[in-house]
This record gives sequence, C-alpha cells and structure tokens, in this order.
Amino acid sequence: MADAMVLDGKSTAAAIRAEIAEQVAQWKTRSGVTPTLAAVLVGDDPASQVYVRNKERACEKAGMDSRLVRLPAETTTEELLQQLDRLNQDAAVHGILVQLPLPKHIDAQSVLDRVSPNKDVDAFAAENVGLLVQGRPRFLPCTPHGVVHLLHRYGLPVQGRHVVIVGRSDIVGKPLANMLVARDCGLGQEYANATVTVCHSLSRSLADITRSADILVAAVGQPRLITADMVQPGAVVIDVGINRTDQGLVGDVDYDAVRSVASAITPVPGGVGPLTIAMLLQNTFAACRLQTSPRAAG
Ligand code: NAP
Repeated sequence: MADAMVLDGKSTAAAIRAEIAEQVAQWKTRSGVTPTLAAVLVGDDPASQVYVRNKERACEKAGMDSRLVRLPAETTTEELLQQLDRLNQDAAVHGILVQLPLPKHIDAQSVLDRVSPNKDVDAFAAENVGLLVQGRPRFLPCTPHGVVHLLHRYGLPVQGRHVVIVGRSDIVGKPLANMLVARDCGLGQEYANATVTVCHSLSRSLADITRSADILVAAVGQPRLITADMVQPGAVVIDVGINRTDQGLVGDVDYDAVRSVASAITPVPGGVGPLTIAMLLQNTFAACRLQTSPRAAG
C-alpha cells in the first residue's frame, strides 16, 4: 500500500489564523473593540510557559490582545478563585484560560468551573461541558475541535464511520467523543454522526478494538503506543499525543510504521497541535462578539 496522505496541521492552522486575523481586523474597525485573552499561569512548569507564550504570540499575530497573569506555585485555590473573579468582572477581558496542569494542591475542577461560561474559551467549565453533551455547545473545546476541523479540511467525513478514540480525558477524549456522536457539531452532519468507541487504560483487547476503526484517534501520552498491527489498512489515523523523548517530540502513534498501513495520518509535531491554538483564537473572537453589545458592534 502507498504511504498515507499526511494531514498537515501547520498549513491548515496557518490558513485558519489568516482568516481569523482578517475577520478580527474588520471587527475592530466596526466595533472599536479588541478581542482580549487572559492566560493564567500558576508556577513555572517549562512546557506550560512555552504553551502560554505561543498562545500570546498567536493572539498578537491575529490582532488580538493578550494578558498574562503569572502566579507563584504556592498560590492557594482560594487566591486563584479570587483572581478569576477579577478577570470575570473585567469587561476588557473576553476570554480566560487557565493553563493546565495546575499544581497538585489546587482544586483544578473548582478553578475551571469558576471561569465565567461566556469567557470560558477552553470550554472546560461544567456549564459548557453540559451544553456540549446536550449537543448545543457555546464553545467547542480547542483540541477536539482541531481534530474535527482537520478532518473537515481534508474532506474525510465521519458520519456513519466507526471512530475509535484511545484516551478518555476531560480535555481530549471525552469532549471529542461528544462532538463526533452529536448530530451536528457546527461543521455539518458529515463531520458528526459517527459511531464512537472510547478506550482507556482498563480497556481489554485494545488492538482488536483499534483494528475495527475507520478513524483512529490516539490521545494517551505514551510514545508510539499505536503500532502498525493495531491499525486497519486504509484507516485514517489522528495522533493527538505529544511526548518529549530523547529523540525529540513524538506522538502516540508509531508514525513510520503506521503511515504505510493508514490512508491518512497526522504527523507529530505539525499535526493536531497547531490546530489547538487556531481554535483558541476562534473561541476568543467568538467570546468577544458574544460579550459586545449589538450597538457597540454596529
Ligand atoms: P491524560 O489526561 O493523561 O489521559 C490519558 C488517557 O489515556 C487516559 O484516559 C488513560 O486511561 C488513557 N491511557 C493511558 N494508558 C493507556 C493504555 N496503555 N491504553 C489505553 N489507554 C490508555 O492525557 P490528555 O491530557 O488527554 O493528553 C493525551 C496526550 O495528548 C498527551 O500526550 C498530551 O500531551 C497530548 N495533548 C495534545 C494536545 C494538542 O494540542 N495536540 C492537547 C492536549 C493534549 P485512564 O483514564 O484509564 O487513566
């Protein structure tokens, strides 16, 4: 079989970011309002610092403002909640993200739930999770949205297909399953209405399940967990994993072996990762429009 088509997240994300930048420029002229994202970073985890810096830069390039709120690692849950209350009340801030992971002593769920639902551009707060589960999302969670967007851009519909997702986290696996099983998650029915199986660390016979996938998504965090024998010939393989190894960044899929079995595959880096930031920009712009009165928007 010929090598799989490579789903290029980098160029797809660049195109989306250019579209957003154009829309933001028009919006600013019309409304005089600059979409603004506040990122809250607790502690000094090096990977988190890089992620936040990339998000700030992306905002700048799209013509949006960003604010970084840096807090020391010893910050208590209560102090963080108070900080979020201030950002929630600040009319100049339209989107708020709390960079994960938070230090272990912080009650992460109550922190995520404190972000005002209208500013919750990661869509992690309980109200927004509930709306997604009900099939009427306010914001789509960034990484799952990036996955569906990539499939859409490459004309790889999911309707009626068996999608197997390996990983059931609240930020990738579960929300992606909810989007794919919905009747329409905003990209048309062809990019929803899938038959979805979600696997996790206690799933038995993982390889038997993954081999039944028309579309296989790996979101685990284990380098090269998905080997070629776990993939149905001709399947579409989406690798969400980002693992730092001695050989650099690698995904959860054994890329070199799987690309000769799959019909389409995402690389790591340069696959889903860049889409996540593009979707964050889209949500920040949407949050700004949501919070700007129709009169101000003209
Ligand atoms: P997570 O919260 O650690 O969840 C990992 C999931 O994988 C869990 O559901 C776990 O099962 C499951 N799992 C672990 N070992 C397994 C195994 N051997 N077989 C089957 N399932 C297994 O991770 P996450 O936050 O979803 O992130 C997953 C990966 O995606 C990481 O590499 C992360 O860096 C990456 N990521 C990338 C982006 C992006 O923008 N591209 C965004 C977010 C995350 P249990 O639930 O049973 O423990």
